[in-house]
Amino acid sequence: MDILVLIDIRLRLISTADSGIITAGVVLLMSMQYEVAFPSGKVQYIFGKGLQAIERLAPQPVILTDSHVASLYPSLTEAYPSIIIPAGESYKTLETLESITGQLLQYQVQRKSVLVGVGGGVVTDIAGFAAAVYMRGINCGFVPTTLLAMVDAAIGGKNGVDFGLQKNLVGTIRQPQFILFDTTFLQTLPEIEWSNGFAEVIKYACIFDAPLFDELAVNHMAYYQQQQTALKELIQCCATWKNQTVQEDEHESGDRKLLNFGHTVGHAIETLYQLPHGQAVALGMLVACKVSETVTQLDGHVYHRLTTVLQQYKLPYSLTLHPDRLMDILAMDKKRNDDKIDFIVLKNIGHAAIETIGFDVVRKAIDNFSYAGNR
Ligand code: ADP
Ligand code: ZN
Repeated sequence: MDILVLIDIRLRLISTADSGIITAGVVLLMSMQYEVAFPSGKVQYIFGKGLQAIERLAPQPVILTDSHVASLYPSLTEAYPSIIIPAGESYKTLETLESITGQLLQYQVQRKSVLVGVGGGVVTDIAGFAAAVYMRGINCGFVPTTLLAMVDAAIGGKNGVDFGLQKNLVGTIRQPQFILFDTTFLQTLPEIEWSNGFAEVIKYACIFDAPLFDELAVNHMAYYQQQQTALKELIQCCATWKNQTVQEDEHESGDRKLLNFGHTVGHAIETLYQLPHGQAVALGMLVACKVSETVTQLDGHVYHRLTTVLQQYKLPYSLTLHPDRLMDILAMDKKRNDDKIDFIVLKNIGHAAIETIGFDVVRKAIDNFSYAGNR
């Protein structure tokens, strides 16, 4: 039974919790559930419950997961009707969607069934899309199993698949019924995937939350891997930042764009050098600092603080870039508008802005990053 209504000052959440300990004004939440209303629908956020909670949330669940998660957690696919897709971004395609549709038909999935995506961002993206289009829409829920999916990919309702080199070209914006956060999944997460998730955590700190940046700066990745309470608070904090942003601008016509900090150049780096998303975003954030030094006169000190924090979370901070090739990819980017581009800049740590700037400013920042500060 829900017994407490709590306000956690740092997270600025109003929540119902079914077991909480209050010590000298500090709320230590063991488990909690709250609802977030987006323009396109309400989402239940459930923290601190095991996977079996999905039976209450989704009476007839069909699990969608990837081969990697399925082999790590065999009880998952033994317990429920399941669809297993190959692991990896290269399978986030229309072909995989077709195969999922065929299997949903084989299971005779009807409108009242709920498709539950259990996995990283690839799984939750494609599960959300499959649920949005199968029979013109069935319910779906997510159980993110990577840090990146917990703090970012599973939240906000964007779903879809890649098409050729174009990431997320085909998709919709539609909220899941629920997102269940079970951090015990992270015990099997490889180190590189932890780092990838931390790139997004650092991104939230840069654009919204200077105190969070300070907290990250005094800790290391190992701290959050070992301290469950700190990790859960961190995930809740990031989820709250993302929720607030998406609630105000679900279709990304305004402030949701701020979440693209580090991503414009980051996506180009990801495509050109075949780097994991988080690693490319780390480098993209550094280039964005260089752009900001020109556009908002961001203090050069921020670039160096970010470099240090990235290292603490085992993220790259230097790479020899090929400016011409990166600019070609950027020019194909869908955000292009003549010779200008919408770019997310920092005014300071914790304060970001959207500026329409010339491609030449980005080019100069990439040159600058490649030949000077990037060492
Ligand atoms: P994202 O980084 O967007 O979450 P993916 O869905 O591709 O991207 O997940 C990254 C990789 O991590 C995939 O190979 C996936 O199978 C694997 N993975 C997902 N969850 C876990 C987990 N809990 N433990 C170990 N590996 C996992
Ligand atoms: Zn990202």
